[in-house]
Amino acid sequence: MKTGFIQDIRFLEHDTGHGHPECSARLSETLKYLETQDWFNSLIQIDAADAELDNILTVHDSSYIRRAEEVCRSGNSHLDSMDVSVCTESFDIALLAAGSSIQLADEVINHKVDNAFALLRPPGHHAEHAMAMGFCLFNNIAVLARYLQNRHGVDKIAIVDWDVHHGNGTQHLFEEDPSVLYISSHQYPFYPGTGHYSETGIGKGNGATLNCPMSMGANDLDYEEVFSQKILPKLDHFKPEFILISAGFDAHQADPLANIDLSTDAFAWMTDRIMEKANQHCDNRIISLLEGGYNLNVLPKCIGKHLKVLSNDNYS
Ligand SMILES: [Zn+2]
Repeated sequence: MKTGFIQDIRFLEHDTGHGHPECSARLSETLKYLETQDWFNSLIQIDAADAELDNILTVHDSSYIRRAEEVCRSGNSHLDSMDVSVCTESFDIALLAAGSSIQLADEVINHKVDNAFALLRPPGHHAEHAMAMGFCLFNNIAVLARYLQNRHGVDKIAIVDWDVHHGNGTQHLFEEDPSVLYISSHQYPFYPGTGHYSETGIGKGNGATLNCPMSMGANDLDYEEVFSQKILPKLDHFKPEFILISAGFDAHQADPLANIDLSTDAFAWMTDRIMEKANQHCDNRIISLLEGGYNLNVLPKCIGKHLKVLSNDNYS
C-alpha cells in the first residue's frame, strides 16, 4: 500500500503554554520514534500546505474565522473559552493543519498514494461551526470531507472517530446531511457531553450518525464487539466512497485524560478492520488525521501501529 505522510515543523509553533497536554512534544516525540522504525522510509512524504479561507468557510462561520484570527494575532492566550489555548501563530498553524488535510485528499484522489496520515495539530473534531472548543480551532476532518465533495465530486463519505472524546463538532456539522456518515466510539458520559446512542442524525440525516458510547474501563474486547456488531455493519450498509479517520489515541489505557482501557495493539486492529472496509467499498481510500492522545511515551507507539498497518500490503 502506498501511504502518504504529512508532518511539518511549523505544527510545533502552536504554543498552548506550559504544562498543557496538547503540546508540541506530542508531534516531536512521535516523529523521533517513527524515524527509528525500518518501515518509516517507505512512507511517501507529502508537503504541508495552507488552507484557503474559502476551504474553511465550507465549515465555519465567517465571523468566527475573523474572531479566531484577531484573538490569535492580538496575543490573547485563549480563544472562546479556557478550553482553547492559543498564541500569535495559532491561526496560521490551524490553517496549515486544515490545508494539509486537503493536500492529502489531492494525493489520494490523484492515485499518488492509496491512503494517508497527517501528523498534525491543533486537532479539530470538537470545533463547532462558530466556536473553538476542546483544543480545536478548525474542524480539519470536516473541512476535508467538504473539500472531497466540492472539489473532487466524492459523494458519500464515512468518518470514523475513535478518539476517546465524542466529536461534537463533526457530528453537528453533518447531522442533517445524509451524504456524510459520522461514526464515533467514545467514553460516555464524559467530555464534551454529547454522543448518546440516541443521537442518530436529524431530518434527512437521520441514520447517518452512529454513536457508540463506551463505559469507563472498556477494553479491547468491548471495542471489538462494538466494531463487529455496529461500526463495520454500518460501513457495509452505507457503502462509502471514501473513509476518513479522526485518529485520536487517548482511549489508550495509559492516557492521562480519559479512562478507557485499550492496548497499543488495539490501534492496529481497528486500523485493519477499517482498511478491510475501505478495500471492499472505496478502492482502499482512507485519510487519517491525528486528533487526541496525550501520553508522550505511548502516543508515538500507537501512531506507529496505526501507520504500519495503513502501509501494509494486505489489501493491495
Ligand atoms: Zn480526545
